[in-house]
Amino acid sequence: MDKICKTCGLVFPATSQYFQYRDKASGMLKPHCKMCTNKGDRYKKRVMREMSVKEKVCKYCGLTYPANLEHFSFKNTHKKILNDCCIGCEEEFLAQQKK
Ligand SMILES: [Zn+2]
Ligand SMILES: [Zn+2]
Repeated sequence: MDKICKTCGLVFPATSQYFQYRDKASGMLKPHCKMCTNKGDRYKKRVMREMSVKEKVCKYCGLTYPANLEHFSFKNTHKKILNDCCIGCEEEFLAQQKK
């Protein structure tokens, strides 16, 4: 079984060799690979800071938000490209798709 790291977007085998346990008893793994877990908040903070100066218009609701990870998720984690729609619209969109 493979698992995609939520931070770097890379695929690793879903084992404790690549992911830390979130809950060892039930065998649940953390959503981030060990490499990203070790980089920790410093990496995330750097990304947030780099983006905090820019603004981005959501394609769907037309509102302007700061172009950071609070309002947009990554379309491409590796290249740090943000989605065209805000997190709110993305969630709505995903909810509609499930119906
Ligand atoms: Zn990772
Ligand atoms: Zn939106």
